[in-house]
Amino acid sequence: MSHRHRQTKQKNEKTPVHTTFVDASTEGGKSTAERYARRMVLMNQVTNLRNAQRLAEAIPLQQEICVLDEQMHGRNSSSAGLSWNKLGEMQYENKDFAAAEVSLKLAVEIREGLGEDFDTSVSRDNLARIFEVYGRMEDAKKMRLRGRKAQNITCACYTCKYLQQGVGFDRLKACSRCKSVFYCSADCQKVDWKERHKFYCKAPETPAASTT
Ligand SMILES: [Zn+2]
Ligand SMILES: [Zn+2]
Repeated sequence: MSHRHRQTKQKNEKTPVHTTFVDASTEGGKSTAERYARRMVLMNQVTNLRNAQRLAEAIPLQQEICVLDEQMHGRNSSSAGLSWNKLGEMQYENKDFAAAEVSLKLAVEIREGLGEDFDTSVSRDNLARIFEVYGRMEDAKKMRLRGRKAQNITCACYTCKYLQQGVGFDRLKACSRCKSVFYCSADCQKVDWKERHKFYCKAPETPAASTT
């Protein structure tokens, strides 16, 4: 009879500590080459585990990638921003919304710090999804529209061809009820509605209605 022991890794349940970027070549006693090699291994494991829906196992590995990226490229690097974004997506998929919010806020902060023209649309849309879960439609709308000036808003449908890039606000249409989420086509809106948005969509409250 087999009995599978569950290893409890307490440190993995916390958000990783933000390490200070000291010296990428020697910090922690590991060379840059060793870190790259470790990162490659972790990336493959995360991909496989995520595909197998084993998110609880994939998330601690992605957290380790975030720390490695901070050590190798700096806390405010585009690599770190991308890794935090991916961690937030996985935590969202795992319905760990509080942790996802922390990761995605960091991803947005890092990526917005890279310059006005840097495409932050996907991270902002991911964070807006968390706000939708919390019923904070106005915050979701504001987060998405923060890229309006730079024409930096993504279609909110996960299967969209515009996924992973911001498109101009003039090419998107808002959900007619909540006006908090934006799509490039009716097809994209239908897909996202069925998969996700119908659970959260609600009309904005008028000032009078909000007091009831
Ligand atoms: Zn689309
Ligand atoms: Zn809506």
